[in-house]
Amino acid sequence: MEIYPWHAKTWRRLFGIINEGRVPHAWVLSGPLYTGKSKFAKQLSFALLCERRREEGACGQCRSCRLAVQGAHPDFLHIKIPEQKQEIGIDAVREMTSQAMLTRQLAAYKTIIIEPLDAMGLSAANALLKILEEPPEGTVFISITHRRSAVLPTIMSRCQRIDLPAPARKNALRWLHTQIAEERVEELLDAAEGLPLRALQLSEDRDILNLRANLRRDLSALMRGHLAPLEAAKEWSNAPLDETVAWMLSLGHNLIKQCMSDPASAPKLDVRALYAILDEVAEAKRALAERANLNGTLMLETLALAWAGAARQER
Ligand SMILES: [Zn+2]
Repeated sequence: MEIYPWHAKTWRRLFGIINEGRVPHAWVLSGPLYTGKSKFAKQLSFALLCERRREEGACGQCRSCRLAVQGAHPDFLHIKIPEQKQEIGIDAVREMTSQAMLTRQLAAYKTIIIEPLDAMGLSAANALLKILEEPPEGTVFISITHRRSAVLPTIMSRCQRIDLPAPARKNALRWLHTQIAEERVEELLDAAEGLPLRALQLSEDRDILNLRANLRRDLSALMRGHLAPLEAAKEWSNAPLDETVAWMLSLGHNLIKQCMSDPASAPKLDVRALYAILDEVAEAKRALAERANLNGTLMLETLALAWAGAARQER
């Protein structure tokens, strides 16, 4: 299994820990979505299960490796949110606990991936905490989260934290060029907010860059007073709400950067007013991430009015 280049250093460090036999009973992999945490967790799991571990990781050929890839290894468990559900329930944690207690069958370790750790109700989290307090010998929990603040601190404190940040832009671009024959790689990465796996996913959707270009055009028209806010909001409702809000934020940041670095070419804008708008956009983005009950139309209208407000201040 290929290691993403931006994970290579962390991988070597953890692999050193494995080779020295200093494996903790619980790791939490923490970092943004779309950067490959899930694959990293599997690589780590498989390396622990492998019967002929190599310098660089699992051998990929032994009985354990073959079973693990098929998802049929008796010492490997992968807990996810069930389909049609919003979170990992207490039942899943209880079942996982009883399996964790069983004797290992093939490998030197039993590995359990929990993905994502932040999507757990309080009772499920407490059940997990209980087993983390008295972990069965040889069992390694590998949890994944992109929202560390949503995890019980008591759970975090019983796990060794591994930070897996998004790659630097130039590294993400270099990797993307090896994955897709696409001229607009930079634009894709922008649309994906710098997240390489999201950019790869977007590359399969031809409309997405057009939607983002339309949004950029609309924002500029709003700030010039050339577009009615409600009209803009109506048009935006045709695109995915999450994307629209995220793009608004990244396009706004680009605009600020442009104002700062090259004031002559940038549109005449009040940077402070722009920051105030971006605060509103960031707030909307947070609300979306928390999946609160939202009125999408109202959100878009409010944001369109905020952008149009910049036009008024300009005059
Ligand atoms: Zn192997």
